[in-house]
Amino acid sequence: MVTIIGAGLSGLATAFRLQQAKLPFTILEASEVAGGRVQAALVSGQAHSGHQDLGPSWVWPYAQPVVEEWLEELQINTFDQYDRGDALVDRSPDTNAVAQFLPGQNGIARIEGGVHAVVSALLKQLPDISYRHEVISCSFNKSNIEVDVVVNGASKIVSSDKLVIAIPPRLTVPLISSTPELRTVSDILSQTPTWMAPHAKVVMFYDHAFWRERGLSGRVASQVGPLVEIHDHCGPQGSPAALFGFSGVPAAQRATAGSGFIDAVQQQLRRCFGDDAPPPTQIIIKDWALEKFVSTEADITGSGAHPSVIDEAVRGQHSNNRLWFAASETSPFSPGLIEGALARADQVAAQIIASF
Ligand SMILES: Cc1cc2nc3c(=O)[nH]c(=O)nc-3n(C[C@H](O)[C@H](O)[C@H](O)COP(=O)(O)OP(=O)(O)OC[C@H]3O[C@@H](n4cnc5c(N)ncnc54)[C@H](O)[C@@H]3O)c2cc1C
Repeated sequence: MVTIIGAGLSGLATAFRLQQAKLPFTILEASEVAGGRVQAALVSGQAHSGHQDLGPSWVWPYAQPVVEEWLEELQINTFDQYDRGDALVDRSPDTNAVAQFLPGQNGIARIEGGVHAVVSALLKQLPDISYRHEVISCSFNKSNIEVDVVVNGASKIVSSDKLVIAIPPRLTVPLISSTPELRTVSDILSQTPTWMAPHAKVVMFYDHAFWRERGLSGRVASQVGPLVEIHDHCGPQGSPAALFGFSGVPAAQRATAGSGFIDAVQQQLRRCFGDDAPPPTQIIIKDWALEKFVSTEADITGSGAHPSVIDEAVRGQHSNNRLWFAASETSPFSPGLIEGALARADQVAAQIIASF
């Protein structure tokens, strides 16, 4: 039996491969839903029903062969990120943004149904996941591996032969810190930031994509904020109509801003798109810094820099070929990205299958 800790993309994709190989596994997930950093808001209402990504939105299929293969296998289509027309450059809080051409969006693709569609497709193929199962420690015994799980406040031990830890790097550290042989790996993981953990994504819904009608791409590059960049986030045919932006306000300031943050976003939208632009019908803020199964204090106060490829030691053989680390940040390429999660899942699953 293989225990997989974490039902994010990397854990689910590992499970999917083990399932194809007819190997037994169980998935323990701390939160109430699968997907990890891949989350979507299901918005209903005539003008904008459908899923809207609150985590990742983009893939780069031309440069990400692993993503391309997985999407093909799961029969999921992509479409180009909308980028027709001028962008807006937002330079000062006192003047309106200026329309101009901005390069840099070529080859960016969105996934039909959102990245969430990948999670849904994987879940359809997998057996039930044990939700609200937070793993707090792991013991590597001679005959088995025991993980200590908290379920509804009560402690429970889950035993298995092999273990895949598919949770963000710094959250992995307390699970393995009592095992002296894993000290080096633990040190490396403690210094590995979780991609996007300190950030907040803001999705703004509209009745229609008015910016497209005005010859604008929906993209804003801002030196003022609170959103440092804004992009078109409509569905494939322009519906549901939406924009999304990333907050430039640090997590600590966001935590105390209250409704001031949304007010500042509304003000920025008026500055960029004009006073005559329709206001959003709904705004959703997803603050990833508040997600305890994604972010740690070190991530929130860190630089937020994109993780680089971590030391090979993490991908080496551990505990007599019984333990693997699978989170996206542990991938040898595209660490921190969707491609990293899927590529690392492929690697880990292949090694597990070979070990049986
Ligand atoms: C706002 C945002 C925008 C992004 N944009 C992009 C993008 O455009 N393109 C791109 O390629 N990537 C993007 N990413 C990154 C992408 O989302 C991640 O690379 C990918 O989702 C990571 O998957 P994962 O399975 O490795 O980890 P996670 O998604 O973090 O999954 C880990 C899972 O483990 C669970 N867990 C944690 N601790 C425990 C525990 N103790 N016990 C049990 N379960 C536990 C968590 O609840 C979670 O479900 C973005 C991320 C965010 C947040």
